[in-house]
Amino acid sequence: MLKIEHIGIAVTSLADAVPLFEKLLNSPCYKTEAVASEQVTTAFFRQGDTKVELLEATGPNSVIARFIERKGAGMHHIAFEVSNIEEEMQRLAAEGFTLLQDKPKPGADNKLVCFLHPKDTSGVLVELCQEVK
Ligand code: ZN
Repeated sequence: MLKIEHIGIAVTSLADAVPLFEKLLNSPCYKTEAVASEQVTTAFFRQGDTKVELLEATGPNSVIARFIERKGAGMHHIAFEVSNIEEEMQRLAAEGFTLLQDKPKPGADNKLVCFLHPKDTSGVLVELCQEVK
């Protein structure tokens, strides 16, 4: 894994959370992007070499809606950048981690992504991401 690419935070309202994080980080939101397949809208902030991703549900069946229902708003996942996501998926599956996808899928911010089940990772939802070139 190369670095922490971003930290994902589930929010109930981007309209409230974006100005809050702009104040907190003292840096503007540089992009918002809808990910239709996940029923989320994302908002990104750069923080040095890494990013903060805010996630708002756009429908009741969104994973973010269900997460907030169970746990409330807050830290949702940590994303690690990898140089070859398929290789890393194979390596982690061989180590006994449960992958939530068989194949990398398109995520926000021009990435291929795959999530690991939190039951194997101390309760932390881990995202692997690889920049699409
Ligand atoms: Zn993410």
